[in-house]
Amino acid sequence: MTFPILGSKTITDRVFCSWIRCKRKAWLDLNQNSKERIWSAHRALQLDHQHKSLSEFLSEKPRRGLSALQEGAAEVIGMRLKGITPLGLDIEAHPPLLKKIKGKSNWGDFLYVPVAIKQGQRLTRENRLSLALWGYLLEQFQKVQVQYGLVISTGKNGLEVQKIAFTKKIKAELFEALKKFQKDLSKEDQPGLTSDRKKCTLCSWKNYCDQKAAQEGDLSEVNGIGAKRKNILQEIGIQNLNELASTSEDYLRSKLSAYGTNHENIASQLIRQAKVQRDLSPEKLTPNMVLPELISAKGVLIYDIESDPDARHEFLHGFIFIKRKENGEWSVKDSEYQPILNLNKKSESLAWKKIKNKLNSFSDFPILHYGETELLSISQLGKNQGENVEEVKKIISNFIDIHSRLKEGWLLPVHSYSLKVVAKWLNFNWNQKDANGAQALLWWRQSQKLKAGGEAAKKLKSILRYNHDDCIATWKIAEWIINNN
Ligand code: SF4
Repeated sequence: MTFPILGSKTITDRVFCSWIRCKRKAWLDLNQNSKERIWSAHRALQLDHQHKSLSEFLSEKPRRGLSALQEGAAEVIGMRLKGITPLGLDIEAHPPLLKKIKGKSNWGDFLYVPVAIKQGQRLTRENRLSLALWGYLLEQFQKVQVQYGLVISTGKNGLEVQKIAFTKKIKAELFEALKKFQKDLSKEDQPGLTSDRKKCTLCSWKNYCDQKAAQEGDLSEVNGIGAKRKNILQEIGIQNLNELASTSEDYLRSKLSAYGTNHENIASQLIRQAKVQRDLSPEKLTPNMVLPELISAKGVLIYDIESDPDARHEFLHGFIFIKRKENGEWSVKDSEYQPILNLNKKSESLAWKKIKNKLNSFSDFPILHYGETELLSISQLGKNQGENVEEVKKIISNFIDIHSRLKEGWLLPVHSYSLKVVAKWLNFNWNQKDANGAQALLWWRQSQKLKAGGEAAKKLKSILRYNHDDCIATWKIAEWIINNN
């Protein structure tokens, strides 16, 4: 059955998964001009992970299509399952893999169960419900009940396979979700932005929605407001950034006290942050200097790491030393980028020696980094390499986290205090357009699959260029703090 508003559009399991993540995303997938979407390195990383997990799981080369199912192939890819939901909506699904198990179906003494691939440790609602949907459609297709599905994932502990039973509870959850899904898709207007804007980082509609959020002064644009706090503010009648900026502190504190002291205590900060964003004017939070260590420093070492979080592997440690001239100016132009590559875990002890030597040779200078990664990484690397605890403490004693100093000392007219957002606010541009951490990770993973030289070298060069820019961006922020100390 088709629904008038949906017309001839094909409703797929992908749209259903989009809806589970964000109702607006499903609506945009179906109705918005796809030119507004952006390519995201996160999606490419996800596909790469799926491919890796499948390769490890497959017992033989999988076969493709309906004839493979009818002949009882062990594993089948590329199947398109068509069926109807309990409320009569036509839906089409493309499970990544169907696996043969013992049993009876309309094809013989075997049947198939669906296989889903999860990323990360947690089994998400999206994993669970898409698997249940495939099981439900597969039942219509092979005319036999499907009792369970499999969820596979490869990570630092190798391949993990989880069996998910299609219980009454999970089926009821699926049918309820499909009912709401159909109702939402039938709406004429775009649903609002998701309350949890963290989800937007991975979404192909990010730019489109960011523009809308900024235009409308959505509360989620205010730094410090996540999904829960946005709902609370709306409940007490504050609908957007301007309204929050104009609210009196006493009023907000008294209203937020009903939701707990952690909300009450942040009332003043929320209003001040909203004002700073509305007026586009930074506000200093302390009469003290934010970076006093740099007043008499003769130079600074900037440090930035690139890593593969799934493999817990920091593959690049990048450094730039910026010297201070006699006249007090910082000679950024003459600074030299000094990368240390840690190509694989086996060479970690050699990389550690180089990193330790580098940091020790700059022990008279402040070492600036953005966020806690570098500090945690050096502590962990030292521990892994059996380094003396006091020695590690000495190495990190002159580390300065620019991100935490900035947050303690300033409110800026930005929706996020990430390196990218703050540096862009200071008009710093990365040399490689749209480069980000996910893109660097993708380059890294791609380079690992290529033969040394040629394309692999090009990818490594791009990573180094990106890391170099991250170091300079860190410096730009530190420099702004010094100039406004
Ligand atoms: S960018 Fe965010 S709000 Fe927009 S569709 Fe994606 S997840 Fe939803």
